[in-house]
Amino acid sequence: MYLCIKDQIQNLNIVIGCTVGCDYCYARNNVRRFHTIEDFSNPQFFESKLRLFDNKIPHNFLLTGMSDLAGWKKEWIDMVFEKIRQNPQHQFLFLSKRPDLLNIETDLQNAWFGVTVTRNSELWRIDALKQNVKAKKYHVTFEPLFDEPKNPNLDGIDWVVIGTMTGTQKNKVHTLPSWANNIKDVASAKNIPVFFKEDLVPIMGEENMVQQLPQQFLDVLKVQYATKNK
Ligand code: SF4
Repeated sequence: MYLCIKDQIQNLNIVIGCTVGCDYCYARNNVRRFHTIEDFSNPQFFESKLRLFDNKIPHNFLLTGMSDLAGWKKEWIDMVFEKIRQNPQHQFLFLSKRPDLLNIETDLQNAWFGVTVTRNSELWRIDALKQNVKAKKYHVTFEPLFDEPKNPNLDGIDWVVIGTMTGTQKNKVHTLPSWANNIKDVASAKNIPVFFKEDLVPIMGEENMVQQLPQQFLDVLKVQYATKNK
């Protein structure tokens, strides 16, 4: 038995659109297919979705499933942070590939700021995140991986996610088991929970899957489960 990350953390795409331009971006393809917004490279804020934050049933929400935090306007961040503060029943996650562009300081206890690292030459993003975002919680997602990020400095990181490239791209690169295991070992030595995404099952073997969640996320899921099964 293994967990699917989308059952643990739901996307709440309050911003759609991104200027980073990754070749493998599934969000851009979705937007083109469903015409969600006119131009994916011009991020749009869906203010009406702020009401979804008031859901009394706790959720772990990823707010950047179709955007990059570095592409958010300051006024969007302010509005979202205000709603996060009003709704401590949830945990909120953000991801960025451009932490060099961020300048954030917050004392929010339930906001998790992360970077995506896809290769060894992007390890700088972890340090840039901690430098440019002064926050209570940090996470790193290693996905998709194109080579091995060697001996990442995970000091101060609270959660690590590891995955592999999915979809139907040509020249697909698969995460090697040794890459995933080496990152896991660095994290585990620092008692950082590690989550192998479900796409790693065929690569790692189900028996070698490690799927740890931070306690705050587990607390949310526990209440969510109990509420739904009342
Ligand atoms: S950063 Fe994320 S949303 Fe932006 S182009 Fe890359 S994959 Fe797409």
